[in-house]
Amino acid sequence: MTENADHMSFDVTAVLERAAAGERITPEEALHLYRDAPLHALGSAADAVRRRRYAGTEHIATYIIERNINYTNVCVTACKFCAFYAAPKDKAKGWTRDLDDILRRCAETVELGGTQIMFQGGHHPDYGVEYYEKHFAAIKAEFPQLVIHSLGASEVEHMARISKVSVEEAITRIHEAGLDSFAGAGAELLPARPRKAIAPLKESGERWLEIMETAHGLGVESTSTMLMGTGETNAERIEHLRMIRDVQDRTGGFRAFIPYTYQPENNHLKGRTQATIFEYLRMIAIARLFMDNIVHIQGSWLTTGKEAGQLSLHYGADDLGSIMLEENVVSAAGAKHRSNRMEIIDLIRRAGRVPAQRTTTYEHIVVHDDPANDPVDERVMSHISSTAIEGGTAHPELKLLASN
Ligand code: SF4
Repeated sequence: MTENADHMSFDVTAVLERAAAGERITPEEALHLYRDAPLHALGSAADAVRRRRYAGTEHIATYIIERNINYTNVCVTACKFCAFYAAPKDKAKGWTRDLDDILRRCAETVELGGTQIMFQGGHHPDYGVEYYEKHFAAIKAEFPQLVIHSLGASEVEHMARISKVSVEEAITRIHEAGLDSFAGAGAELLPARPRKAIAPLKESGERWLEIMETAHGLGVESTSTMLMGTGETNAERIEHLRMIRDVQDRTGGFRAFIPYTYQPENNHLKGRTQATIFEYLRMIAIARLFMDNIVHIQGSWLTTGKEAGQLSLHYGADDLGSIMLEENVVSAAGAKHRSNRMEIIDLIRRAGRVPAQRTTTYEHIVVHDDPANDPVDERVMSHISSTAIEGGTAHPELKLLASN
């Protein structure tokens, strides 16, 4: 598949109609639509698919309350788009959190109504399987109600190498210790050329998928992600989707697909390319049309902004991801969008949908169908601003943040 596919023989309207009716489209057709379909028609087709998939609850859009816990920024992998990591020899910039600190953050999450922990950090040269076993077991022992939705294939590859065990053993052990599902981190761009350009020390895209497939086979589901805007072509974006769709045909283990946009500050790519909001919305729509085997398409508005997040609900997204109690990774690269629970609820309502707080596995915890019963947020906000910044790295004004 190339960028120079034949424009003349392609009937955009006919393919859009087929896709909107639920027929599977080819990668070549997806590329044509992504590049050439009128934006409103693309969004309308994707929304038709979403409404049919959620018939009966199509008026609802979901969000989750979670906390990112960044356990270390020390990392040997040195991805060029990353503004978060510190090389192991950079003692001034590098930090790690101890277990007590992590447990305190979990306690705050529970207190604030959070249901999910996203354990996220660098590839620390000393952290093998044992490190994650110890931490996940300790979190589950104290907070069995918290879902640990964390890590991804890159961390599994790294910890297995450090502990000199197979990825099967690594996955099995951390799952038994308490990991519930993988967050799909590290997918970045899966095709070889753009992946090598931005993350030359990461495992290949094929290997990333192989590890996810192994996890799905062992009963550990995941989400899938995509980093847009680091210089990849349109064809490479569609190839990324194809690679995920092919694995999903075999495993069914990807719960969601979450594209997000590259943030340009404080990293080695120096912002030389970025995805536009229109490209992002087109991606949300094409993901809904092309990835017919993935149930949830998530709008990510930490990186694109609230208006784009709101628009994504009209381009095929059914979920706006999380109100995060803490986030330090994409924020370090310049993502400046902040929000709180009331604002997310309001934003979803203004998009013409009924907001619902969900679990990690997308069950509705509370449907906000009556504004008179909306949660009062002041306690949450004041609690966060007085306690959550201790030991934090990037946000002296830390409030509830919103992201994927
Ligand atoms: S993206 Fe992750 S693996 Fe890559 S340098 Fe940053 S912390 Fe390390």
